[in-house]
Amino acid sequence: MRIGVPKESASGERRVALTPGVVDRLVQKGHEIVVEAGAGEGSYFSDADYENAGATIGAAYEADVVVKVRRPSPDEEERLSDGTVLVGLLQPLSDPEAIERLARRGVTAFALESIPRITRAQAMDALSSQATISGYKAVLLAAERLPRFFPMLTTAAGTVRPAKVLVLGAGVAGLQALATARRLGAQTFGFDVRPVVREQVESLGARFLDLGIVGEEAEGGYARELSADEQRRQQEELERRLPEFDAVVTTAQIPGRPAPRLIPATAVEAMQPGSVIVDLAAETGGNCELTEPGAEILHRGVTIVGPTDLPSTAPLDASRLYARNVMALLEHLAPEGELVLDFDDEITAAACVTRHEVRA
Ligand code: NAD
Repeated sequence: MRIGVPKESASGERRVALTPGVVDRLVQKGHEIVVEAGAGEGSYFSDADYENAGATIGAAYEADVVVKVRRPSPDEEERLSDGTVLVGLLQPLSDPEAIERLARRGVTAFALESIPRITRAQAMDALSSQATISGYKAVLLAAERLPRFFPMLTTAAGTVRPAKVLVLGAGVAGLQALATARRLGAQTFGFDVRPVVREQVESLGARFLDLGIVGEEAEGGYARELSADEQRRQQEELERRLPEFDAVVTTAQIPGRPAPRLIPATAVEAMQPGSVIVDLAAETGGNCELTEPGAEILHRGVTIVGPTDLPSTAPLDASRLYARNVMALLEHLAPEGELVLDFDDEITAAACVTRHEVRA
């Protein structure tokens, strides 16, 4: 198979879809890899690294299979031809029109986000690999901005109490945030609407914050959206509890829906000056009413950070993990080296967001 690796063009995007290590393994399996010049620069991989791994530097969009991190920009869409197979984080739920455009171009597209979260597909789970980085980095952002220590310190000048960190939404990113905050010495607390999460939170040495709201787990392990009344009760309860915490990391998401609103402006105003909120749901509207996506604001002494590109801030590991996810999907789609798209297979059928007759 001829596999193309374009340079990502989205502003601030430093990741690359395949790393030289993964290229080496794919070349050994008989694939031909074409990497666009400079594609790995943001992740500290040079063109020479790719050539040493067996790739050629050239026209990545002319390959049979084009592997990307972000979904193609309109300019990049123009470079995809009829029959090309595209793999990437294509945001099929938040941007169905872009998928329509790919369909009109005759592209067969696989979105890593749409892969079912079943045991057999774990190696392809890019949502988890990238969320792990987001959770870790969110806590570092909070620690950096907090005007106090995370750990407890006993010094000659007195004792410093540990910071109290609350994580709202304890899925993949949230659990990593809890683990990271605890390693930094904070007292950690977690909340999630899925009842199974309590045990996971506690296994990380954190306390489960009882808000009296118990939601449900829907298909695929995701949360069901709360009813309007449950949402209102959750907001009220959080408004009462948030002043206890120095830093709050929010990660709550419902697939294909705007982020649930957990923290209204009034709850921010109830927090102590100097407190910090890092809102990982910024890109889908934010868990906090005051979050501005991609920005950091100060509201009555409370810092609110709304990062939208955290995986890209650790591009080396983000690319390494992502590349392994992509490789696992490619091996699934082409077990003997050539694409054999079996749409009766659960993973192939779910990941495919638009299809066209594939070139032999
Ligand atoms: P996500 O990014 O969709 O959501 C993050 C978290 O927000 C979830 O834990 C969700 O329950 C929570 N949430 C939603 N609404 C909320 C609200 N109003 N208040 C508080 N929390 C709220 O989820 P994710 O981290 O991608 O994954 C969630 C789950 O999917 C995992 O914990 C796991 O059960 C499952 N999963 C399974 C596999 C697998 O089996 N291969 C892999 C990854 C994830």
